Amino acid sequence: MKEAMLYTATGGGTVRCGLCAHRCAIKDGGHGVCGVRVNQGGVLYTANYDKVVATHVDPIEKKPLFHYKPGSLSYSIATAGCNFRCTFCQNYHISQWTHDHGYDLPGESVPPEEIVRQARSAGCETIAFTYTEPTIFAELAYDTAKLAAPHGIDGVFVSNGYMTAEMVDVFGPLIKAANIDLKAFREASYRETAGAKLQPVLDSIRYLREKGVWVEVTTLVIPGFNDEDAELKEMAEFLAAVDAGMPWHLSAFHPTYHMLDRTPTGLRTLHRAHDIGRAAGLKYVYCGNVPGNPYESTLCPSCSASLIEREGYRVRMRGLSRGHCAACGEAIPGVFG
Ligand code: SF4
Repeated sequence: MKEAMLYTATGGGTVRCGLCAHRCAIKDGGHGVCGVRVNQGGVLYTANYDKVVATHVDPIEKKPLFHYKPGSLSYSIATAGCNFRCTFCQNYHISQWTHDHGYDLPGESVPPEEIVRQARSAGCETIAFTYTEPTIFAELAYDTAKLAAPHGIDGVFVSNGYMTAEMVDVFGPLIKAANIDLKAFREASYRETAGAKLQPVLDSIRYLREKGVWVEVTTLVIPGFNDEDAELKEMAEFLAAVDAGMPWHLSAFHPTYHMLDRTPTGLRTLHRAHDIGRAAGLKYVYCGNVPGNPYESTLCPSCSASLIEREGYRVRMRGLSRGHCAACGEAIPGVFG
């Protein structure tokens, strides 16, 4: 347990958490929506600071981040808990722990110093706060990212984007890249499947970019949920208006958790979504999580030269020269080694 960041006392022993857009008012003895922040005697504590449930060395492409240090390794960590309740969560066994098992959290103490040491010894260029929602383990992420920075290791968020502007203000200087999940473009979809709202996610995408964080966006394309042309077009137009150079990852859905009544996403649907993204002006639209997919590699949006070839997590940098297309000189946005 560690005292939480970004909360205020509102009187009578109640506190208001300012980490995510739920802005939970929590009475003495109560928990927030995420289940991992608890009010004890008018002080808000984070109960998952010393409860790490996952540590892995991943290719950065797995986050997915395609324009941020491609081909590098990312030390990836998570604690249990989430501020969303997505019925299609692919990591539900850890993200929905408190809802499915109660407040006795799993995990072990791995101090920030040890996380950084392990990241360095594995040759990782980044530490990714991922698998579950990093906003709800912000204190561990903050302490770790701060210790990692002097070693040239950048913090990376893989997030549902439900953080507040205050949280972005605190993390902006520490988190160099983020992949934000944009699950749908309908308030009702967010409300009914995640117990959340759409608008704060859109605000975060915009604000993170304004703060200079490198942002890529992922949409899990789910048949009958978010795959209609009109909705995909609205998503793509929003993203293109924020930054047409911001990569959009379209990922194939496979039935899981409480969403077992849909079919897996077919290649044809993903390619239709890809074409909608490109027609809306997005320069880099990728498809993933499905075999036989031709839209994994990075092509120059100006001359179509092959810049970064990907096959699964194998990466070959072919046509990039100092962040520009070697063939025509087009500047390619991102951070390239
Ligand atoms: S992180 Fe979000 S869900 Fe958790 S207590 Fe704070 S406001 Fe509530």
